[in-house]
Amino acid sequence: MSDAPRIVPRDDLRALEGYHSPQLDVSVRLNTNESPFPPPSGFVDAWLEALATVPLNRYPDRSARALRSAIGESIGQPPVRLFCANGSNEVLQTLLLTYGGPGRRALVFEPTYALHSHICRLTGTEVVVGARRDDFGVDPDAARVLIDRYQPEIVFLCSPNNPTGTVDPSATVAAILDAAPGLVIVDEAYGEFARESAMDLVDDARGLVVTRTYSKVWSLAALRLGFCVAPPWVVAELEKVVLPYHLDVSTQLAGTTALRFRAEMEARVAFLVEDRERLAAGLDELDGITVFPSGANFVLFRVARGADEDDRGHTIWQALVERGVLVRDFSRWPGVEDCLRVTVGTEAENTAFLSALTDVLREHGPS
Ligand code: PMP
Repeated sequence: MSDAPRIVPRDDLRALEGYHSPQLDVSVRLNTNESPFPPPSGFVDAWLEALATVPLNRYPDRSARALRSAIGESIGQPPVRLFCANGSNEVLQTLLLTYGGPGRRALVFEPTYALHSHICRLTGTEVVVGARRDDFGVDPDAARVLIDRYQPEIVFLCSPNNPTGTVDPSATVAAILDAAPGLVIVDEAYGEFARESAMDLVDDARGLVVTRTYSKVWSLAALRLGFCVAPPWVVAELEKVVLPYHLDVSTQLAGTTALRFRAEMEARVAFLVEDRERLAAGLDELDGITVFPSGANFVLFRVARGADEDDRGHTIWQALVERGVLVRDFSRWPGVEDCLRVTVGTEAENTAFLSALTDVLREHGPS
C-alpha cells in the first residue's frame, strides 16, 4: 500500500454519519413509507410509448416545461412557481445550496425528518433545533421566540411530519411565515394523505416553499421525482444552482404521464387513508400501545415500558422482524423514545402486522 497522504473530506463533513434506512429481507416491509401498490398498469405502457419517440441523442428540456405545466395545471399553480428535481430530497438540497451555506442558519423542529439537518450540515448551514410539544405539534409562539433570537435564513416545517405524522394547521404555518425573515420550507412529502396543506398560502411575495414528491402517492419512488411550489423569484434562483439537465427525460415523461392516471392515484390515497385509520384503531386496542394521530401513510406508536426495562421498543421491533414484519425502529431517537413507525401497506400486510404485534406483545408480557 502506498503511504502517500490520502485526501480527506472537509473538516465539517468528517464527523458526519450518512443517512441510512436499514433494509432487511422480510416478507412484510412497512419501514420506508413507500406506496404498497405499483403504479396503474396502463401507466407503464403509456410512459414507455412516450419514451420511444424521444431523441435520446439530445439533452432533455432543461427547465422541464411540459412537466411543470402539467403539474401546475393539476394543482392550480402557474408553472413559474414550480421547480422539479430528482426526488424532493434533491429539491431540498437545491434550496439549501441556494439559501443556506456558511454563516447562515436553518431552524428545524425535532423530532423530524433527519435529512433536513443532514443536508444543512452537508451545505455548511448551521442548524438551530427547536423542540416540538408533547403532541408533536409546532408551537407558533415558541417558534417565534426562536426566530426572533436566531433570525434563521430558513425555517423547516414538515407536515405531515415524519416520523410522527403530525399535521401543522395553516394558522401555524401562517404565523411562522409572518415571523420568519427568510424562507419557510414546508415539506409535504405526505401532503396528499392529509386534510390540510400549506400550498394555498404560497404567493409571489412571501418566502413560502412547499415541497412534494411522486415517491409516495404516485407510487414512483424508484424514479425519483419531486417538486416544490415557490415564488417565481425562488424558482429562478434554484434553476441557476441546480446542475444543468439534472432531470432526465424518462423522469420528466413519467411525471407528465402519471398525471393522466390521477383518478387511480386518488383511489389509492383514499384506500391508504382508510386503512391508516383501521391500523390506528387496531393499535389503539392493544394494551401498552399509545398511537399518535397521523395525516400521512404511516402511523407512529409508543410501546409502554416497565420501570426496570430500558429497551422495550427495540425488543418489540426485533420480535416483529423475527416474525417477518419490518417497521422502522425509532425507539432510541431523542423525542420519540420507545416509538416504532409502521407504514400503511396493503390490507393483508396491515393485518399481518397487527396480528404479529398482538402475538409479540402477548409473548413479551405486559409492560
Ligand atoms: N421528505 C420527507 C418528510 C420524507 O419522509 C421523504 C422520504 N423519506 C422525503 C422528503 C424524500 O422523498 P423523495 O426524495 O423520495 O421525494
